[in-house]
Amino acid sequence: MMSQVSVDAARKATVLIVDDEVSNIEIMNEALGDQYDVSFAISGEQALESVHDIMPDLVLLDVVMPGIQGFDVCRRLKQDPLLADIPVIFITGLNDTDDEVLGLSIGAIDYVTKPVHPLTLRNRVRNHIELKQLRDQLAEMAVTDALTGLHNRRKLDGLMKEAVKTHAGEGRWLSLIMLDIDFFKQFNDTYGHQNGDNCISMVASALHRATRRASGHSARYGGEEFCCVLMDCSPDQAQAVAEEIRDHVHQLRIPHERSQVSPFVTISIGVASAQAREDSAPNDWVKAADAQLYRAKSAGRDRIEACVFGDLG
Ligand code: GH3
Ligand code: MG
Ligand code: MG
Repeated sequence: MMSQVSVDAARKATVLIVDDEVSNIEIMNEALGDQYDVSFAISGEQALESVHDIMPDLVLLDVVMPGIQGFDVCRRLKQDPLLADIPVIFITGLNDTDDEVLGLSIGAIDYVTKPVHPLTLRNRVRNHIELKQLRDQLAEMAVTDALTGLHNRRKLDGLMKEAVKTHAGEGRWLSLIMLDIDFFKQFNDTYGHQNGDNCISMVASALHRATRRASGHSARYGGEEFCCVLMDCSPDQAQAVAEEIRDHVHQLRIPHERSQVSPFVTISIGVASAQAREDSAPNDWVKAADAQLYRAKSAGRDRIEACVFGDLG
């Protein structure tokens, strides 16, 4: 299915406790064990080794430990893009404002001094996990189209930028597909805006199904217009994906009595492929695919037009 913007309510959040003293771990486990999946590490080294496997929602981190100290563990977590968003709370016997300031300045979200009060710990952990889940949800919403659940244009722009960069070094093929629903204004006029929205959603799922196998990233570009980025995808492969998208939309058989090309909803598709170069820009693909889409519309709609640009074009 398409990505959904929701917190997985069924999953218990995971808390990683890092402390060299087992008795401390026991106290914290006692306070949190019934609410969370709790994992432990008894050294900074062990925490850094296991954190990628555990992928905790929050880390409780002792400051003073033999070997790698808590502050260094925190620094390393914050330097790793995969781990940087995990909230870290320092748990320490140090009762010193300088340490607190240092801890917070290197990215910890909170600071709790020992002895740990179980209820205080519980509440702080709950608050920070809720905030983390809200942040994740907002971040997801910022790149998701609300109607279809596909990526939105902002996400697509980011993906294209990234793809052009990674493909440029070795001149790898990159393809962009743009598609637009035919006679959609008439569809809205005939069946109403709500049915128009449903039609957009159905076309979006057809697009999603068709591009998933090609590891494409599909997005709603705006209105009734969609895009699909295909990494390492030759012109022939891109053409095949475009045909599959068109077939999938045909199979939906959404009635459209005022379409001038079919009794059912159809789409027009423009495909642009090129080998990325150092001086390539995402907009090269967007412009080229848009021009092909325009050709497909002019030539009668319900069809695919494709081009290869760059040195070969
Ligand atoms: P063409 O075949 O040339 O693409 O013609 P068209 O009628 O599809 O193109 P046009 O750009 O004139 O109309 C697009 C229509 O899509 C107009 C607009 O009202 C409708 N639309 C855009 N976004 C939405 C949406 O989110 N929901 C609904 N229901 N309609 C939308
Ligand atoms: Mg249209
Ligand atoms: Mg349009």
